[in-house]
Amino acid sequence: MIPRFSKRFERDSSGLESLFTLSEKKDAISFAGGYPAEELFPKEELDAAFLKRSELTDNSVYQYSSALGYEPLRAKIRTYAKRNGIDCEIENIMITQGAQQGINFLADLFLDVGDGMAVEAPTYIGALEAFAARSPEFYEIEMQDDGLNLDQLEEVCKHHQLKMLYTVPNFQNPTGICMSLAKRKRLAKMASQYDFLVIEDDPYRELRYEGVGLPSIKAFDMSGNVVTLGSCSKILSPALRTGWLIADETLMNALKNLRLASDCNPSSVVGQMIDEYLEDNDINEHIEEINDLYRDRRDAMIEGLKRYLPEECDFTEPLGGFFIWLELPEDVVAQEILDNYGDVTFIESSTLFPVSHRRNCMRLNFTGVNDEEIEEGCRRLGDAIKETLYE
Ligand code: PMP
Repeated sequence: MIPRFSKRFERDSSGLESLFTLSEKKDAISFAGGYPAEELFPKEELDAAFLKRSELTDNSVYQYSSALGYEPLRAKIRTYAKRNGIDCEIENIMITQGAQQGINFLADLFLDVGDGMAVEAPTYIGALEAFAARSPEFYEIEMQDDGLNLDQLEEVCKHHQLKMLYTVPNFQNPTGICMSLAKRKRLAKMASQYDFLVIEDDPYRELRYEGVGLPSIKAFDMSGNVVTLGSCSKILSPALRTGWLIADETLMNALKNLRLASDCNPSSVVGQMIDEYLEDNDINEHIEEINDLYRDRRDAMIEGLKRYLPEECDFTEPLGGFFIWLELPEDVVAQEILDNYGDVTFIESSTLFPVSHRRNCMRLNFTGVNDEEIEEGCRRLGDAIKETLYE
């Protein structure tokens, strides 16, 4: 018999698992996924970049490297961050194995059992799982049309010692909502005033289908209380497992030490390949191509939902990102719809609220399905909801 798992991993963590099984369910139309559309990966260009860089370098490309990652790539990220209002040095940028690793590093560095951890309600399941493994005291902060309810957050701060807040300010997973400029400024100020860390997780920023982007929350951070995470997963490919973390000096020094005991450094082979891709290609053109396809899919899903859903349903109309959030009347249990009508899948809401476990909502993904699937899936969803409500 093997020994017991550590206390951290004794919990039930089936939330993530069900996410993957639902996306792969046969014969069903899946609105459950969170994958980018595969046909958009710039495979030829990435292959070419890898071969070219390999030819240009010596054996050192296969050596261990710095904990922060390949420096020329960090310099490019610095230029990009500047566009979003973040003025930092390359020493403030760490290449991570996706934004997920950044989340996990910060959870590791900051959370002890019982620490105050505020999250948007609902929020991203992968982040919740990383935090939950450290058994913090969760505080759910309601999502409003312009982002998280900061009055509610302030009440929490006044009565409890908050350690961290996790937010996805652009096209939030799972609601698709963006945080307003005023709230970004106020949140940065509050973090300094009440001494908590803001994790600004921003992997969807570039997937904007209309309007113009707002500065990062970190752009308004005067005290080092905001850490920003970015990712190549949605704009290039998630298989590269490459993202970045931007933090002030003290925090970065601690993260470097933590990383040595974790995975030493990010892959410099992958770092160099991405750097070469960025040298040889216009990534903004590629992003435009992605956004043209996703914009059409978003429009198709909104149209389908309007056509087929009964009027008791309420859903977001996001300006970008991957997801639409659908709310059903309070007494409806979304999981029962999944159980009773398996021909269209989605992520039901209870695992996305760590305290209230609200059950009457669903996350719908529109990027991984084509027009016909969207139309048919919305029809099936509408039928299932109507039958549940009226019969
Ligand atoms: N943060 C959010 C909000 C996400 O939706 C995801 C992926 N679905 C991640 C982080 C993880 O991304 P990565 O592939 O960069 O680790």
